[in-house]
Amino acid sequence: MHCPRCRTRQLVMIEMHIGGESVRMASCSACDARWWEGTDGALPLAEVLDLAAQA
Ligand SMILES: [Zn+2]
Repeated sequence: MHCPRCRTRQLVMIEMHIGGESVRMASCSACDARWWEGTDGALPLAEVLDLAAQA
């Protein structure tokens, strides 16, 4: 996996559980891009917030 913005592979993955879903926050060490992934792939921030609101 690599950063969608700068293509580096220096990523920090933080796994957490929100509202019963397993989600991962990926953070790029090089350009500071951040994004979320769920079990089904990329997760828009709006969905993460939805899960958090339900939790
Ligand atoms: Zn990056």
